[in-house]
Amino acid sequence: MLEVASIPDLRAWAAERRRAGQRIGFVPTMGFLHEGHLALVDAARRLSDSVVMSIFVNPLQFAPSEDLARYPRDLRRDRALAASRGVALLFTPDVATMYPPGGDTRVVPGAMAERWEGAVRPGHFAGVLTVVAKLLNLVQPDVAVFGQKDIQQAALIRRMVRDLDWPVQLVVAPTVREPDGLALSSRNGYLDPAARTRSLALSRALAAAHESYAAGERSAAAIERLVRDVIEVSGGLTADYIAVVDPDRLDPVDVLSDDTIVAVAARVGQTRLIDNIILGVGV
Ligand code: AMP
Repeated sequence: MLEVASIPDLRAWAAERRRAGQRIGFVPTMGFLHEGHLALVDAARRLSDSVVMSIFVNPLQFAPSEDLARYPRDLRRDRALAASRGVALLFTPDVATMYPPGGDTRVVPGAMAERWEGAVRPGHFAGVLTVVAKLLNLVQPDVAVFGQKDIQQAALIRRMVRDLDWPVQLVVAPTVREPDGLALSSRNGYLDPAARTRSLALSRALAAAHESYAAGERSAAAIERLVRDVIEVSGGLTADYIAVVDPDRLDPVDVLSDDTIVAVAARVGQTRLIDNIILGVGV
């Protein structure tokens, strides 16, 4: 595995691979890698010849009140994990490389970014889309892989790529979980043992939603109530939202179908957790 931190080095490497006729796969991350990130690499490798992974903790997507300064980092460990999983090029730019002084342009998403996560984290998705736009432009991959874990992010990136006619295939890979159901996240380390136990109500609630759908429930209102009940009964978790939505625009639906998404966000102490399922697929 090669590691580069500069834009000219990244571009030269990618141009060379393209000249050799290779398909390039791309997995953008903020590092502190876990099995969820590495499953995206596996998916990218199945669909391309050489996989680029970026590790960049993007300051633009953190509000001043959020955890940018304490966001977990371990580049040495990440390097070893990425190499062992077959990443061909690791791109590790610093902030000055991605956002040189004087920069003044942002990608501004539409109404889809105002709801759910966007309502709780104003400006977050403009930061995400700006960095993803830059990274896609730098790497120019044939295929880019994102996680279902951040489903609104994936939907907004898909929208951006369609709206701006970029020639890249997007793949959304299923959420990787701990054996007890907790979705893997770089932020799970913030949870003490008691909070971690409480956080399991999230995946339990989604599993209950899937069971109820599989048993024939078709009312979105009923599923929302069920998810809220499981979360509230658990105690110690505060739901920010429970979204029962279509997969394309994330608009609320009334009647459930296989592709309906149930997405939840909740707080455990200071930590925010998000999770979701596609009803026809389950947890
Ligand atoms: P992050 O480093 O949190 O920005 O995440 C980088 C990519 O990994 C995003 O596309 C996430 O959706 C994806 N990801 C994060 N957690 C998981 C998970 N548990 N399973 C699958 N993908 C994930």
